[in-house]
Amino acid sequence: NSFVSFSGLRATSASSSSHGFFAKKLWSLEKTRILPVIECLIARRRNAHIQKYPDAKIISLGIGDTTEPIPGLITLAMEARAHGLSTLEGYSGYGAEQGEKAMRVALAETFYGGMDIKDNEIFVSDGAKCDIARLQLVFGPDVSIAVQDPSYPAYVDSSVMMGQTGAFRKDVQQYSKIQYMRCSHENDFFPDLSSVPRTDIIFFCSPNNPTGSAATREQLKELVAFATINGSIIVYDSAYAIYMSDNNPRSIYEIPGAREVAIETGSFSKYAGFTGVRLGWTVVPEELLFSDGFPVRNDFNRVMCTCFNGASNIAQAGGLACLSPEGLKAMNKMVSFYKENTAILVDTFTSLGFKTFGGRNAPYVWVQFPGRDSWDVFGEILEKSHIVTTPGSGFGPGGEGFIRASAFGHRENILEATSRLRKLYL
Ligand code: PLP
Repeated sequence: NSFVSFSGLRATSASSSSHGFFAKKLWSLEKTRILPVIECLIARRRNAHIQKYPDAKIISLGIGDTTEPIPGLITLAMEARAHGLSTLEGYSGYGAEQGEKAMRVALAETFYGGMDIKDNEIFVSDGAKCDIARLQLVFGPDVSIAVQDPSYPAYVDSSVMMGQTGAFRKDVQQYSKIQYMRCSHENDFFPDLSSVPRTDIIFFCSPNNPTGSAATREQLKELVAFATINGSIIVYDSAYAIYMSDNNPRSIYEIPGAREVAIETGSFSKYAGFTGVRLGWTVVPEELLFSDGFPVRNDFNRVMCTCFNGASNIAQAGGLACLSPEGLKAMNKMVSFYKENTAILVDTFTSLGFKTFGGRNAPYVWVQFPGRDSWDVFGEILEKSHIVTTPGSGFGPGGEGFIRASAFGHRENILEATSRLRKLYL
């Protein structure tokens, strides 16, 4: 029952191990090539399609990027902070690497009220994806990881980059040394933990990208108990928590005992259209310790101070405005808009006879095409309807036979996409 032993900073600072560390890194990079990121593969297909049909109006239900303008009260706050930077009184340079105090307090109060999360356990950042990569720096190359299959690709890809994995096995479409926890409609998108071997780290995303599923309270209790027994650390990705419609936890810290075993990342990207502004956060509770009793929070703080110099002051002004009473209203309105898009997509696919999953608690609809190769389905929809989707296999072998439709889009494009899909499949 030992917790992971720290293998990042302290291992490399010991002079005897630094040679071994780099030699191993080079070896693993040579042996384990990272596959191209799914967005690039899709962009390639899209570009080839544009060449072939220069006049086609392509609609993207593919990449999970937001499309609606940021509410004015939020951009006004950023504008005011930006303008202040050209005045003597308003100028500020480097800020705290952990984020502005007011921002950390507002995050704790808004998203973690009653969960005993303190502002000094919250690190403000330039986004959840970047925090996932920085957490991997904390963990180092010698840890074992588990991911949901299918899952958001950053967990696996950052693991490969860190040298945590073995080679990619084409036969099973998996990197060796990673535990792929199958999450399908057959198991309610929650892994059968009794068959999952112990790993040091468990990446878990709920509400989930790409399946749109969300774990229930009972399921999360099971996950926390599993991590506690195994001495594993859960990295809980809550980037879509605000989209939750059902009565499921929005944070892992709603589960008793989670403070001892879980880190949580969050993001303003899909809450307020901040995919370009860049603002997120990560919670590392004080009680989360390595096997030698050293707080994980201290190491994450060390990485934040070394690999990051604090979130943009302008972005943080925007974040603070998001968390004001008017800002929260504006964010929720935006989220409701995308949720209406999701309902339109679910309705379209189900009325065409497809089985769909997700869509209630996340802005993604997971559409089943039984027995079909997901890249073939992607190609069919692109070729015949000029609509870009995401092939399920881009999220891991468990995504085969599915496509992901994203609800981020202008309403007229979503409606146009649905009428094209009706023409294709009716
Ligand atoms: N986590 C999940 C599950 C996501 O789907 C995304 C973006 O699509 C991110 C994290 C990245 O968030 P950010 O823009 O804050 O880096």
